[in-house]
Amino acid sequence: MPSASHSHAALIIVGHGSTVNPDSSAPTHLHADAIRRRGLFREVVCCFWKEEPNMREVFEMVDSDVIYIVPNFISEGYFCQQVLPRELRLDGPVTQRDGKTIYYCDPVGIHPNMTRLLLQRADEVAPGVPRDRTSLIIVGHGTNLNENSRKVIETQVALIRDGHHGFAEVVDTYMEEAPFIADWAKLTTAPDVVVVPFFIADGLHSFQDIPVLLGMREETGAALSELGVFHHNPHQLQGRLLYYSGAIGTEAHMADVILDQVHDFDAKHGIKAESGKQKAEIIPALAAWLKQGRDSIGEIAITANADGTFSICHSADRGQDDLQVHHDAEEALFIARYDASGAFRPLHSAPTLNRGWRLDLATLDELRLALDFFYPAALGMTHALEQDKLASVPLREVLGRQTGMYRFANSITDEQAHAMIGKCCANENCLRRILWPLTPTQPMTKDAATKTQPNHAPNAIPLLCIEACTHIVSAARKIARENHEANQPKSAD
Ligand code: SF4
Repeated sequence: MPSASHSHAALIIVGHGSTVNPDSSAPTHLHADAIRRRGLFREVVCCFWKEEPNMREVFEMVDSDVIYIVPNFISEGYFCQQVLPRELRLDGPVTQRDGKTIYYCDPVGIHPNMTRLLLQRADEVAPGVPRDRTSLIIVGHGTNLNENSRKVIETQVALIRDGHHGFAEVVDTYMEEAPFIADWAKLTTAPDVVVVPFFIADGLHSFQDIPVLLGMREETGAALSELGVFHHNPHQLQGRLLYYSGAIGTEAHMADVILDQVHDFDAKHGIKAESGKQKAEIIPALAAWLKQGRDSIGEIAITANADGTFSICHSADRGQDDLQVHHDAEEALFIARYDASGAFRPLHSAPTLNRGWRLDLATLDELRLALDFFYPAALGMTHALEQDKLASVPLREVLGRQTGMYRFANSITDEQAHAMIGKCCANENCLRRILWPLTPTQPMTKDAATKTQPNHAPNAIPLLCIEACTHIVSAARKIARENHEANQPKSAD
C-alpha cells in the first residue's frame, strides 16, 4: 500500500489493450475502478497501446501536477522499456514536463507480491486439494525476442519453491519455447495439476491456445470471450486431475500490486507525503459548458436536472421514458464497449453507440467520469484547446516514431496518407475532428482536409483528435507492406 498520501496525485495505469478483444483491457479498467473507489488518489485513469485513450491523450484527462504511471504489464521488456517511455514522453523514472512531475513505476508483473497472488489463485482454482499432492504449473508466452518475459516466470517459480509453500512441485512452462506447456504431463508427477497463466488478461492464449496445448479441447476457433473455459474444473486428462485458472492479471488483488509498485517507487526515490488542494480545471470547465447550454457530446445527450443531478442517454433516445436506467458512472464502460449487434467497439468515437439506456448521475464528478468512459480524454482536450494549450502531433511524426512491426509505416506516400485518412477517419467511421497536419508545414488535402473542419453541432462539446490513432498506424503499415510487395521483382515463371 502507498505510504505517502496521494490525495494530490493522479494514477495512470497503462495497459496493452486490443482492437479485437474486449477482454484485453477489462482487468486494467477493473483494477482502476477498485483503486478509484478507495479514494487514495485524486484521479485514477487508464490508457492503452491499442485502445483509447492513447498515451498522448491521457495527460489531458488529469488535472494533477503529480502523476504516477504504473504499467499493467507482466515484464520489463520491449513495451515497458521502449514503447511506453516513448509514447508517454518520459525521460526516465522521473520526468518534469509542463509544470508536472511524472513518476514511472515498475510493471506489476515483477513485483514480489505476485507470488502471494499466484498461491492464492492456485488455492482458489483447486479448493480443498492438498498442496502436497499438487503440481503447480505457471505458464507464460515465451519468446526469443524478450528474455525478461521468461525471467519473470522463472523468478516466481523459484520464489514459490524456495518459500516451501508445500506444493509437490512447481514448474515453469511456455507456449513458444521449452519447456513447453504441451508437455505438462511429462513435466509433472503429482496426481493433481494446477495451471495458472502468467498473463495480464484473458484472451486468445488463455481461452483457446493453452486449453488446446493442455488437451482440454481439440482445436481453437471458439468465441473470443469464453470465460466458461475456467468453470469446468477439474479436467480428467492423462490419468490426472487438471485445474485450469484464468490469467493471473484478472485476480482482484492485482489492484494491491499496482499500489505496491507506487509504494516501492516512493520508498526507492525518497518521495515524501504531500497534501494540499490543487486547482481543478476540467470539472469547472464542464460546469461552464453546461451553463452555456452545451448539452451533447458525440452521440450522447446531457440533461442537467433541476435537483442538481444529471442524466445522459443516446441523443436519439432523448425524451424517451422506456430506457434502461443505470446509476453508476462505471456502467458507461460496459455500455460503450459493444454496439447494437454485440460487436466490440475498439474506437469509442465510432458513431455506433448502443441505444436504449439512461445513466442517472448524482454529481458533476460522476458525469465527468462517465463521459470520460464514453469519450476518453474528450473533455480535457476541449478544455486544453480553449486554453490554447492543446498540442497536436503531425502524422509523419507519429508514423516515424514507430518501431517493431510498424517501423515501415512511414514509407507510405503523401497521396496514400491523405487517401487513407479520408477513408478511415470519415465521419461515418469516427466522429472526431482531426487537429494534426501531415507534417508541420504540410496541411491535409481533399477528403482528409474535410476531417480537419469542425464537425459538431454548435451546442455540442467537440470530439478532437490530436494524433493518429492505432487504427491509422495499422492502416499505414498495411499500405506500406502492399507497396513493398508490389515492388518485389516478379519471378520468371
Ligand atoms: S486518427 Fe482518425 S479514426 Fe483515429 S481517432 Fe483520429 S479521427 Fe478517429
